[in-house]
Amino acid sequence: MTENRPDRVTTPQAWETLVTTARRTVADGLVVGTSGNVSVRVGDTVLVTPSGVPYDRLTPEDVTGVDLDGRQVLGTLVPTSELPLHLAVYRTTDARAVVHTHALHATAVSTLVTELPPVHYMAAALGGPVRVAPYAPYGTGELARVMLAALDGRSGCLLGNHGTITHGADLDEAYDRTAQLEWMCRLWLTASALPGRTPALLTEAQLADAARRLRGYGQR
Ligand code: 13P
Ligand code: ZN
Repeated sequence: MTENRPDRVTTPQAWETLVTTARRTVADGLVVGTSGNVSVRVGDTVLVTPSGVPYDRLTPEDVTGVDLDGRQVLGTLVPTSELPLHLAVYRTTDARAVVHTHALHATAVSTLVTELPPVHYMAAALGGPVRVAPYAPYGTGELARVMLAALDGRSGCLLGNHGTITHGADLDEAYDRTAQLEWMCRLWLTASALPGRTPALLTEAQLADAARRLRGYGQR
């Protein structure tokens, strides 16, 4: 929907969508409390959730924005501690929105494997099998560095012992990718839970075929 594209919306509209998306992460059980963070790019300004503020308290006056170097250009609340993650994505991709959560099943998977085994064709919607970035402390440039390596060619990855990060052309797309990623992690954990059984995995060719089909998915 072009009218919802972040580059066509005003800053107040983009902030409203950002707050709605941040509240959804709590309502849908993808984070608890003030965990996680959300951002959206409007021109060369990146609107971000403030650090440690419950999302249901955010008002239109709380709009918080930084430039691509992280300098605060809007608001007075301290921006999310994960600015390095968000800015690294905007500097290296054409993403317009980023969603970071501590979704339960995804975080559990991040402690078990270095890549989510491809149990479902929706991995293709994220660019292929989803990698796990090794653990690094939250809010650091080191976390941003290992995340970028794990994201290469993908629109989402897991952060080891931490959570998820996805990006997209707008907040709806970035959010949907997080929800799909959490669902795939839950699927793999569920299928792996039967003693003595291991889930069948999709081949590279099957995922490539799914990627081609997904390009034509939905309404024309
Ligand atoms: P902020 O409240 O600073 O956004 O931090 C939450 C978080 O998830 C850090 O990884
Ligand atoms: Zn986090």
